[in-house]
Amino acid sequence: MLRTSRVLHPITALGPGRRLGIWLQGCTLACKGCMSLDTWEPGAGTGVGLDHLRSLWQEAVRAGVDGLTVSGGEPLQQATALREFLASLSLEGRDVLLYTGYELGELDDEQLGVLDHVDAVITGRYVAGAQPGLIWRGSANQRLIPLTPLGEQRYRPFVELATGRAQVQVRVDDGLLWLVGVPPPGVLPKVERRLRDNGIVFEEAAWRP
Ligand code: SF4
Repeated sequence: MLRTSRVLHPITALGPGRRLGIWLQGCTLACKGCMSLDTWEPGAGTGVGLDHLRSLWQEAVRAGVDGLTVSGGEPLQQATALREFLASLSLEGRDVLLYTGYELGELDDEQLGVLDHVDAVITGRYVAGAQPGLIWRGSANQRLIPLTPLGEQRYRPFVELATGRAQVQVRVDDGLLWLVGVPPPGVLPKVERRLRDNGIVFEEAAWRP
């Protein structure tokens, strides 16, 4: 079982092409300015069986997905189950991108084992105030590292690519509004203010305590 915050498909702003996005619940890294405070509490979210997650992947494959993005929360704080899940997927040329707040040098053997099933990884804490600049990353310290030949082919062109205009995808799912992607600093409160001026008020927002 993996404890998830949400599963969305298709997502288009965290990795190339159309992807299945799985956000795992629980993160103890506590980056200042994290936009996903709702993913911190390890006991929150939903426990989802690996069979069910596999069936969601198969559905996404039938719908023509290009890859899987695993984010969080901190995915590597559920390393054993995540490794089992990724190892069991039938990928057939589709890639796996993993987000982690850890640097590679901080990982233990179990966490490194997850990377055996990942084509590219984005590493490092979110550092508020460090300008994003690079595609799919929240702050300039975060590194995109291809790990496999497929990862090299698909991600190497993006390693140093500047963001240009930030890509943010808006999804409404089960009465909740999800912003998928890496918005530039200050944008989320601005969006919230604009919507409030138009009569739409958020009861809660994941980027404020
Ligand atoms: S940015 Fe990521 S690693 Fe940092 S606290 Fe938030 S969820 Fe955890």
